[in-house]
Formats: sequence, structure tokens, C-alpha cells
Amino acid sequence: MRIPLEQLSQGVETPVEGEIDPKWGEDFHLNPEEMRLDSGGRYRGKLTRLGTTVLLMGEAEVIYRGVCGRCLKDIEFRQHIPMHSRILPGKTSFELEDNPEEDDGGSDVDYYYNGVVDVDRVVRDMVAVEIPQVLTCENPENCGPLPSVEGAAPEKSDAVDPRWAPLLKLKTKG
Ligand SMILES: [Zn+2]
Repeated sequence: MRIPLEQLSQGVETPVEGEIDPKWGEDFHLNPEEMRLDSGGRYRGKLTRLGTTVLLMGEAEVIYRGVCGRCLKDIEFRQHIPMHSRILPGKTSFELEDNPEEDDGGSDVDYYYNGVVDVDRVVRDMVAVEIPQVLTCENPENCGPLPSVEGAAPEKSDAVDPRWAPLLKLKTKG
């Protein structure tokens, strides 16, 4: 979805929506054996223009398929990403050389070029920042034991890698 800045009225919310393109997975260099983008993901939100800055607010639902990092089953993994980006007029590389420190806006800042806001590209950049390191079953009851603690007694959880501790708590509550 590409929207010329001139079509956005000052301070007026313009609804936008679109698809999370599974082909983005190639841009992200995902290893399809472990994790790939599935079709059906969508984003929905609103653009608001404030001067030359455009705000994007909304939510993206990204659907991954791949191997669960715990039980190694092939699973679907849905990720919800709140969108709150500031989209600024993009600078040419020449202008950036003059003022390189101006380009450190952080992950919630993106750019538009030639007066056209490419919402799909802004969403793609945002999804890229939020790529999960590992997919896991959303419901721990459907998920097998952690490969690293298989056979370990739950009461010895203080000896376990602290990164797994929240998962073990879930298990013992079970
Ligand atoms: Zn699992």
C-alpha cells in the first residue's frame, strides 16, 4: 500500500491495511527449514500526517511456520506487533553524509521517499526488527519437555539455565 503524502490531510486519520507478504522471509534471510513466513498475516492501522511527519499506529499479525525450539514439532506461531512508527521524509545519502548523527532515530522511526509513504515497506522493516529468535508452542501443554532439561527433576530448577526458568514455572503450575 503506497500513499502519496498529499492524499493525507493534516491531523486526519487514514485507515490502512495490507498483507504480510510471505516473500519477505527471503529478504529477512530466514532459514525455511527452521522458520518461514506463512500467508494470512495482516496489518491494520491508521496514518496521521503532522506536517511532514506521518504517524503509523495499529497492529500487525505475523504468522510463522517452523520447528518448535522445545518439542521440535512443526508449528504455527502467531506474533502480534503493535505498530507505532514515525515516518519521516527520507534523506539522500549525500544529505546523510553532512549530518550522519541525524539518522539515529531508533527502530520506531522509518522514512518515506519522493513524497510517497510505502506502508508495506515500513511494516516489513518493523516485522524484520521483531523476528523471533526461536519459535515455540504457544500452549505449553502441547509442547514436549525442553531438550536441555529432559529427565531433570523440576525441583532442581534453580540449577537450570535462568532463561528456561519461566518455562519451568509454567510447567510446575500445570
Ligand atoms: Zn513445542
